[in-house]
Amino acid sequence: MNKFHILTLFPDMVMNGLNTSIIGRAMEAGYLDIQAVNIRDYSTNKHMKVDDYPYGGGAGLVMQPEPIYSAYQDITKNMPRKPRVIYMTPQGCVFHQNMAKELAKEEELIFLCGHYEGVDERVLEEIVTDYVSIGDYVLTGGELPAMVMIDAISRFVPGVLNNDESAGDESFENGLLEYPQYTRPPKFLEKEVPEVLLSGHHENIRKWRQEQSIQRTKERRPDLWEEYQKNTGEQSEK
Ligand code: SAM
Repeated sequence: MNKFHILTLFPDMVMNGLNTSIIGRAMEAGYLDIQAVNIRDYSTNKHMKVDDYPYGGGAGLVMQPEPIYSAYQDITKNMPRKPRVIYMTPQGCVFHQNMAKELAKEEELIFLCGHYEGVDERVLEEIVTDYVSIGDYVLTGGELPAMVMIDAISRFVPGVLNNDESAGDESFENGLLEYPQYTRPPKFLEKEVPEVLLSGHHENIRKWRQEQSIQRTKERRPDLWEEYQKNTGEQSEK
């Protein structure tokens, strides 16, 4: 079972999202344990304040170090080994599928969600092991990024996906985007399902899907296609 702790000011936001669908089912079945920890519970201020004005001036508020550090110490106090702590930040390296796969091997992970202008640097220096972004844009908080990461990581935790939802064929698995998918009905708005998929000929279906994957990757993600060619020696036909 993999355990994820999320340090956040908005525990309901993350838990309501993650309790749904496949991740929710996996938690119920005991494959995942996800706990949101409210940083505000660790404030020692009489108004439960967790943020203050930035030294040096400037817009907005910065999350204070003490409540975050106390929450971290509380979570880790009985752990024999300190887990990796991932700070969600647009200043981190950009999350990708291989990182999800690698992080799924960690039994325990802590996600720190910033808000407002971010978090006091000193507590980051003290506890954070990984700085991760979900893309080159700025969001209001780290909650959605943590949910994105946990969803993607969980798909690689054994038992989370059932056989019908296997992670094996998906986009990025072999360096290409996935081929197009079709289901019933066989005709929709005068569009027919490609005949090969109805043929029952497994080898032809495999070949067709591979060609479609290549075509789609070339068109939509030339950067991935270039990388794929480098790694496999596959040549583009002129
Ligand atoms: N002032 C910060 C900066 O310029 O780098 C941005 C702060 S942002 C408004 C508030 C919080 O949202 C951040 O502390 C971080 O936790 C989260 N966040 C925003 N964009 C993100 C992204 N692209 N990836 C991961 N986390 C993000």
